[in-house]
Amino acid sequence: MDRRKHLGPPTHLDNAQILDPVSGAISEPVTITVADGLIAEIQDRGSATDGRHLDLAGLVVMPGLIDCHVHVTASSADEAAITDTSPSYVTALAAKSMHDMLMRGFTTVRDAAGADYGLSLAVAEGLFLGPRLLFGGPGLTQTGGHADHRGPGQIVVPHASSFPSHGLVCDGEVEARRAARDVLRRGADHIKIMLSGGVASPTDRVESTQFSASEIRAVVEEANAAGRYVLGHAYPAAAINRGLEAGVRSIEHGNLLDETSLDLFIRMNAFLVPTLITYRALAEEGERWGLPARSAAKVTDLLERGLEALRRADEGGVQVAFGTDLLGGMQRRQSEEFVLRGTVQSPLSVIRSATITGAKLLRLDGVIGEVKPGYAADLIAVDGNPLDGLEILAEPEKSVRLVMQSGDVVRNNV
Ligand SMILES: [Zn+2]
Repeated sequence: MDRRKHLGPPTHLDNAQILDPVSGAISEPVTITVADGLIAEIQDRGSATDGRHLDLAGLVVMPGLIDCHVHVTASSADEAAITDTSPSYVTALAAKSMHDMLMRGFTTVRDAAGADYGLSLAVAEGLFLGPRLLFGGPGLTQTGGHADHRGPGQIVVPHASSFPSHGLVCDGEVEARRAARDVLRRGADHIKIMLSGGVASPTDRVESTQFSASEIRAVVEEANAAGRYVLGHAYPAAAINRGLEAGVRSIEHGNLLDETSLDLFIRMNAFLVPTLITYRALAEEGERWGLPARSAAKVTDLLERGLEALRRADEGGVQVAFGTDLLGGMQRRQSEEFVLRGTVQSPLSVIRSATITGAKLLRLDGVIGEVKPGYAADLIAVDGNPLDGLEILAEPEKSVRLVMQSGDVVRNNV
């Protein structure tokens, strides 16, 4: 991934107290020297005079945050409507949405259906400010599945496999392979597949399982052949478990998992990506942002089940990454996810989800997720210690005082 690099004299972040998500310790004040987009060195006391100095005394420095489940093109909570929206309008909205994510401290996001190579390229080239974007294009869905946006009265499948559509309908192993290959042809970092029903889909039930085992295996095989991986949308344990058994790397949502699922996560070295804030937001304001009334009824209960699933997964040693899944104007609530998780997890566990575990899931460990020499200079400075309470991270407009991305200071309120 070629990021725009900040070339020129180094930047020195003085008096930085670094929160290490691995050990959970906060360092004594140090100087972080950033050059060519990377963290060059970390010293007890900065002696360098060349370059720019920023004094971070009193602030806690953390790795830039990673959200592994966003939809930057979700201009509405009515996903069918997005397909009929002007691509240029959706692009402009995505640019605004991504800018706001970066200002909250999210320096990397994984788009879980919708975003395409154009958006990823545009932000990498610096055409607008936003997080590093990993994308998969449209999510693969069976006829009548979670990303088949037709209502029961519609017969024709819209010609909608390209931006800004969120769904690509395919049935049978042959079509599933073709769809996977087509998504990969367009540069996907991953393939999204719908393994069960969902909240926003018009004709399915949350509890339904989707795609046959052979179809799922075919998609996983194509992804692996290309050096990519599959993330699977799944609610009921039956769907989660089928996905994990077939080699799906991350299960999205996972609210209705069971004991068997926990064992499978561990055995398959897979990840769970809960997305809790979206249920709260949908329940409180979903209809205002286009969530059809038929979908609103599905939200009830999913938040509580999701919190319980997260608690069990965390206690059971499952690798859990941070995700939000917010749609339309509800995306402003991204950082509230920290507080929801904090009701069932320790602050350190939640911080690990949004840093080191997210990096591992994205296969970017060693590149992002820690503040160490050789890593990308993606970091934030917060006013307060998030280990004492995640509320700090939930109010980024107040607490996030500095955002640095690939060595560029993109937000400076120090
Ligand atoms: Zn989603």
